[in-house]
Parts: sequence; C-alpha cells; structure tokens
Amino acid sequence: MGLDEIRARIAAAEAAAGRASGSVKLIAVSKIQPAERVEAVLEAGQRLFGENYVQETAAKWPAWRERFPGCEVHMIGPLQTNKAKQAVELFEAIHTVDRPSLAEKLARMAQSRGVSPGVFVQVNTGEEPQKAGVLPGMVDEFVAAVRMMDLPLLGLMCIPPDAEDPAPHFAMLAQMAARNGLSGLSMGMSGDFETAIAHGATHVRVGSAIFGARTPRA
Ligand SMILES: *Cc1c(COP(=O)(O)O)cnc(C)c1O
Repeated sequence: MGLDEIRARIAAAEAAAGRASGSVKLIAVSKIQPAERVEAVLEAGQRLFGENYVQETAAKWPAWRERFPGCEVHMIGPLQTNKAKQAVELFEAIHTVDRPSLAEKLARMAQSRGVSPGVFVQVNTGEEPQKAGVLPGMVDEFVAAVRMMDLPLLGLMCIPPDAEDPAPHFAMLAQMAARNGLSGLSMGMSGDFETAIAHGATHVRVGSAIFGARTPRA
C-alpha cells in the first residue's frame, strides 16, 4: 500500500513550498478499486476519499461509513443533473460543478434540506472540447452566479490536459482562485501532486499511487 509514502511525499512537498504542515488534504481516490484495497487504507486511518460515480458510491460507502466513523467522500467525477439529488445525500463535497443548471439544482436542494455539500467549480483550463469544466474566460462570472445562489463555495478544481506540463494549468487555477477570493484549490493527481502543492493545492486527488492501477470496469 502506498499511503504512507504518499503522505510522506505530501509533507515533503509542503515543506519545500514553505507551506504549513497539514495544509494539503489528501483525497484518496477509490473509484473502481477492489474492496480489500480500500479497506486496508481505511484501517490505516485514511478518512477522506474521492469517487467518480454516484451508483458505485451508493453501493460501497454506506457500509464503510458505518464501520469506519468519520469518513468524508468527495464527488470528483462528472455529475449529471438528474443524479444531483442522490449526490447531495452521498457526498460531503462536489468538485465538479460546471454549469448553471447543476448549480441551481444543488442550490434548490440545499434550501430544502438546510445543508449542502461543499462545492468546487471545475475549470477546463486546457479548453479541451471533450472535457468538463467552465472555460477560463467564464470563471469569474460563474463564480459570482454560484455565490448568488448561496452555495458553500470552497474553491476551484482542474484536470490539466494529459500530454501537457501541468504547472501552467495549476498556476492559472491558483490565479483565478486568488482573484475571486477563493481559498480551495483541488488539483494534482498521482503523477503531478507535488507540482500542484508547489502551486498552492489545498486538496490533491491521488488514486493509483495509493491503491495501485485500476482495472477498467467490465
Ligand atoms: C481518477 C481521478 C483521479 C485519480 O487519478 P490517479 O491518476 O489514479 O491518481 C483524480 N482526479 C480525478 C478527477 C479523477 O477522475
């Protein structure tokens, strides 16, 4: 299990960047991992996890939450508006809010339930047509709209293009968050979380480096 190593690397990256120890939260991305691998990480004390699919989360997490009190599960995959109701019941935070219809639905449910998951706005920093996220030029406007809806907005999230140096994308996201007065930065995965921490990440989403490679779903 790579959990200890990843924790050590995060601590080293915090120190190298002159950041306070513990200022970066590790989200262990457990999507499509065998139960025994996730349970080993739970037994080791990890309590913050990321999942990509509503259905899979609904199947796996109620039992784990009972066995391992204090778990927090964050939605980091694309969220269909028609699954928003289920999502607010399953997740403590949603990192992939990227359009008005979804934000409005979440806001309506927050009103009626009196509580809401924390929200990150996903930004398509590489302007990739196949990728979710608000385009960089629309971020300020969208953030203002989400604030008007009274959702608990925590920060911004991005997934840089596969084949590019992620550093400029992390820098761009940090700049957009700063000018919008947002403190949360969800950025960095197994291959680049140290670079993300150097650029101010507050939440890194690390899957395969902790759990091992994912076998694709049948
Ligand atoms: C799967 C996933 C991760 C984790 O990816 P690894 O490369 O396994 O660390 C992080 N963020 C998002 C949005 C993901 O979908």
